[in-house]
Amino acid sequence: MSFDQLKAELEARRAQSLYRERRLLQSPQTPEVQVDGKTYLAFCSNDYLGLANHPEVVKSLQRAAEQYGVGGGASHLVNGHSMPHHELEEALAEFTGRPRALLFSTGYMANLGAVNGLLNKSDAVFQDRLNHASLLDAGLLSGARFQRYLHNDPASLKQRLAKSEARRKLVVTDGVFSMDGDVADLPALCTETKAAGGWMMVDDAHGFGCLGKQGGGCVEQYGLGMDDVQVLVGTLGKGFGTAGAFVAGSEELIETLIQHARTYIYTTSMPPAVAAATLTSLKLLRTESWRRDKLNRLISRFRSGCEQLGLELMDSPTPIQPIMVGEADKAMSMSAMLAQEGIFISAIRPPTVPQGSARLRVTLSAAHSEQQVDRLLDALDKVKQVSQ
Ligand SMILES: *Cc1c(COP(=O)(O)O)cnc(C)c1O
Repeated sequence: MSFDQLKAELEARRAQSLYRERRLLQSPQTPEVQVDGKTYLAFCSNDYLGLANHPEVVKSLQRAAEQYGVGGGASHLVNGHSMPHHELEEALAEFTGRPRALLFSTGYMANLGAVNGLLNKSDAVFQDRLNHASLLDAGLLSGARFQRYLHNDPASLKQRLAKSEARRKLVVTDGVFSMDGDVADLPALCTETKAAGGWMMVDDAHGFGCLGKQGGGCVEQYGLGMDDVQVLVGTLGKGFGTAGAFVAGSEELIETLIQHARTYIYTTSMPPAVAAATLTSLKLLRTESWRRDKLNRLISRFRSGCEQLGLELMDSPTPIQPIMVGEADKAMSMSAMLAQEGIFISAIRPPTVPQGSARLRVTLSAAHSEQQVDRLLDALDKVKQVSQ
């Protein structure tokens, strides 16, 4: 091993326009952000409802920190399971219409924990080709037979399920696909899964808060209960505007995860004040439906604006509105040109997305104004002309 080897690899990556760099955020996560000393209008956060910097959410965090301190101090199974964690679990169970919910410190860990708490070498896991990296990693780590089916394709899933004689069959899908913004065809996928005697696990990181009358995500929108979706995962760092994640399901599922999910057992509980802040954001997310209405108006405005500009959008009804570019270097240069116009949108490149499908992943938030969406459209118009 040598540093020179690493250096050569890093340089090769840079030459392919695949080098990743962090920008320094110097303000809260709001539409107007300070980044590297400049002000930008940002369209790339996952704070879809504008709750990350909501005064009531901030206040709840402050109050709970006064009462409970900062650190969770221990894992949930030692003595780190505090009152705010427990209250949030009960509220999330009620919200999702499931008997129980279990908190994890991140969505990545919830997915690793749920899949690995349920499956081993005797089992099989079936995943959409475009599933989030944390789901793919979870499946690989479990040692279960790993199969990918064609994107959002119930027939392709059916074919693979039919050939399996595994002890347990777990089908896993994003609810809203994180890089494309489309919604999984859950009713059809659930039908195939049920017919094969399997279970369905849905990670709706991007659906909670955005879809469903009360922001209950895909399962609320489609009206799917625990018979259809046995393992429901939500993350708290996106529409909820805080941090962490949960798995919701039956009494038996949650007790099994408490016994076996290593990313639950061997880690410090999230700060209790974050759980308290999330209780407040859950209340806002659920009851203040005007945020979802506004978000939907902004999505329509953006989509019809792009259509007029002749920009190729993907078929997405959600706040994730990627502009397909193709090559990584072109996506990088468009992102840089947008930055010159004062607009911050990061380029998403392989391996996050498949080769040749680099894109500008535009995300909208209820915190944006119509004027801000129009500014984005004006900037895209300029950049489009320069890049063609
Ligand atoms: C962001 C994301 C995760 C990871 O959640 P974190 O809480 O950020 O770790 C998991 N699944 C999907 C689909 C995501 O988009």
